[in-house]
Amino acid sequence: MIKTRNMGTLIVISAPSGAGKGTVINKLLEKNDNLWLSVSATSRIPRDNDIEGKTYYFYSKEEFEEKIKEGYFLEYALYAGNYYGTPKEFIGSKLDNGIDVILEIEIQGAMQIKELVPEALFIFIMPPTLEELKRRLVGRNTDSKDKIIERFKIAYKEINEVSKYNYVVVNDEVDNAVSKIEAIIKAEKCRVDRIEEVLLNNEEEYIHELLIDME
Ligand code: 5GP
Repeated sequence: MIKTRNMGTLIVISAPSGAGKGTVINKLLEKNDNLWLSVSATSRIPRDNDIEGKTYYFYSKEEFEEKIKEGYFLEYALYAGNYYGTPKEFIGSKLDNGIDVILEIEIQGAMQIKELVPEALFIFIMPPTLEELKRRLVGRNTDSKDKIIERFKIAYKEINEVSKYNYVVVNDEVDNAVSKIEAIIKAEKCRVDRIEEVLLNNEEEYIHELLIDME
C-alpha cells in the first residue's frame, strides 16, 4: 500500500573520546550486516592498535592538505591538532544500494554533514558520568598527559553541544547502548518522509467492494 525509498540511512555518530563509542560501534557492526562503517583519513600518528586502512588511512599533514584541495573529503576538521576527514568515495554508492553508512566523527564534521545532508541521523553517545570519562581517558594509556587534558577539555565542550544531535545514548552498558541505537535506526526506517508513494485505488472502488463483501 506504500512504496518507500530503499536508500540506506546516513548515520553520524559522535562521542567525546573516552565515551566508549569504539566498542559500541564494533558490536553494532558485528550484529548488523546492513551497516557499513566509513574509514576516515587522519594526519595523527598511528597508535599501537591502529591498522592502516582499517581504523584510519594515515597521511602526513601535507598529504592531507593536498587531499582537501582535491575535494577528496565529504567533511573534515582539525581536532586536537590533527586533521580528520571522511573520504567521499563509496558513501553515495553504499547508500544507493540500501546500505546504512556510519560516520564516526567529531562534532565539527557532524555539523558539516548536517548542512550537506540534513535528513541524516545524528546520534551522540554520552559517557555515563564525567568521572567515568576521566577514568577511561587516563586508563587508555596511549596518550601523553597533555593530550589527555586536551581531549578532556574538548569532551567537556562537546557534551555541552549534545542538543545539536537528534538522539543521545548514554553508554552505561555496551549491550544496552547497542540495542538503543538499533532501535533508533529501526524507527528511522518508519519515518513518513521515506514514503515515495501511497498506492491507493479510487475510493469508490473500495466502497463498491465493501458493499459486495457486506452482502
Ligand atoms: P581518535 O584520534 O581518538 O581516533 O579520534 C579523535 C576524534 O576524531 C574522535 O572524536 C573521532 O570521532 C573523530 N574523527 C574520526 N574520524 C573523523 C573524520 O573523518 N572526521 C571528523 N570530523 N572527525 C573524525
